[in-house]
Amino acid sequence: MKLVIKKASLIKKEPERLEISDVLIHDGKIREIGENILAPEASVIDALGKILVPGLVDAHVHFREPGQEYKEDLRTGSLAAAAGGFTTVIAEPNTIPPIDTPTRLRRLLNIADKKSLINFYSKSAITKGMVGYRLADIVDLKEAGARAISDDGNPIPSRRLMRNALIKGKESGILVSPHCEESAFYRERILGQREKRGQRPFYLQMPYSSPGAGPYTSEAGFIKRDIELAEKTGARIHISHVSLARSVEIIADAKRRGVKVTAEATPHHVLLTERMAKEIGPNARVNPPLRSEEDVVAIKEGLANGTIDIIASDHAPHSPEEKNRHWDQAPFGIIGLETTLGLVLTYLVRPGILTLSQVIEKMTIMPARIFGLDVLGVGTLRTGVKADLTLIDLDRKWKVDASRFYSKGRNCPFNGWELYGKAILTIVAGRIVAKDGVVM
Ligand SMILES: [Zn+2]
Repeated sequence: MKLVIKKASLIKKEPERLEISDVLIHDGKIREIGENILAPEASVIDALGKILVPGLVDAHVHFREPGQEYKEDLRTGSLAAAAGGFTTVIAEPNTIPPIDTPTRLRRLLNIADKKSLINFYSKSAITKGMVGYRLADIVDLKEAGARAISDDGNPIPSRRLMRNALIKGKESGILVSPHCEESAFYRERILGQREKRGQRPFYLQMPYSSPGAGPYTSEAGFIKRDIELAEKTGARIHISHVSLARSVEIIADAKRRGVKVTAEATPHHVLLTERMAKEIGPNARVNPPLRSEEDVVAIKEGLANGTIDIIASDHAPHSPEEKNRHWDQAPFGIIGLETTLGLVLTYLVRPGILTLSQVIEKMTIMPARIFGLDVLGVGTLRTGVKADLTLIDLDRKWKVDASRFYSKGRNCPFNGWELYGKAILTIVAGRIVAKDGVVM
């Protein structure tokens, strides 16, 4: 199949500008980029006034398969991704059972080959069972195709174990991506240990909380510990969903010292606050939690000045029944594959907080580089690479309607919001998989 995209606007850097070009796609690859490409037998797409970018990459999603297919599965997750303009995703390993052995990882990737409409990659667990006691077989997991290691939702409780994970990560050339948050699991475990020793209640002396602070404030403490360990071991580390101003500061300092650290932020931590969460209800209950105005400002600055390298959705579907429970009983998580692009274009690019080029980099080449997919041509738009492309209409006005999402999840705190900018074509390996938000 031959396809020619006519008069698309391509983003050029330094100085940042748009350049109008034709792009010829044949046999799944980009064959030519230039003016007035003649290809009489090709199907033609008129892209005048539209922005053509490398296929979007979301480096933090939950597709819930295996084990919780009632929340999402590889098929519906991939449809949501395609509709939202994403051609590549990297899933977290916290399925049931977790992806903590090479056999489980290979099985998952095989199922994805059959069911996913887009490129699907996975992380694997840092520790066996993701419970923070013994390291998984990191070397074998890397060989089986894991893009990074992460105990999604749980921090690594002990400093020694984290250090060993980083040493293994460095040896095997795999990225370590810790979740620097206090999970319920972690809190219970620490509580259990302290009670056994007859110590004071854990919330008064959480190892990484600031004194007197409430729950879930330990993110910055964990980030500091894990970055220091990365610095000592020389390993590469990627911090998931940064949510506090203090965390941004710690990461910026580490980058200045030359530590090999990268970081990510989600649209919800950039656009919503704790105060808004209370109004929205359980659909805004997420981990790490939504924070203060001051934290939101710091995350935006971190994105703009390069402290935070990528934007990822942390697409975390749950069933409507689960999310309709009382706030305290509802599970943590927000879906994002079908809203991320519209949200960042409307709330980061339109007001001039980030340039279009910055946003697209943080959603294409940067995640591809961090997770080692750039060598496969992911995240770039040039002749010879696989034709994974997203065509964007910056002026398209649309209203978020979660009831129409391809995702099984409806836990979207942005429901009803009016946005500007939408992926109008998603192309994977030269094939159009979604058009105007509708999967083909
Ligand atoms: Zn997650």
